[in-house]
Amino acid sequence: MSHTILIADDAEFMRAILGEIIEDMEWTVAGEASDGQEAIAQYSKLRPDLVLLDITMPNLDGTEALKAILAEDPQAQVVMITALGQKDQVLNAIKAGARDFIIKPFDHDRVGATLAGILSADPVA
Ligand SMILES: [Mg+2]
Repeated sequence: MSHTILIADDAEFMRAILGEIIEDMEWTVAGEASDGQEAIAQYSKLRPDLVLLDITMPNLDGTEALKAILAEDPQAQVVMITALGQKDQVLNAIKAGARDFIIKPFDHDRVGATLAGILSADPVA
């Protein structure tokens, strides 16, 4: 069965690139969100196998959205989307329970490998 992934990033361009990577890996884009509030709502509704969560988003940032998603589902597999220069935010997110992070601009193969490692280790998948 194909893994399902929710993409939350305020930049449509970034969501499109991530969608291509996910499709190349033969996984399924469960849905998309463009801010933190929407990410939480979509997670609740879709319960994807993994969430890609941009750190910098309007309304509610990625780290706060991460906390809310994990409060609802402690088993949630969340990978942060970061840019260079966000080391402190990344560390905070990892401490809060994010599994890993991917860095913009995306290295297609590296992103695929990072997500594959998490999805294959997921006992419920
Ligand atoms: Mg952003």
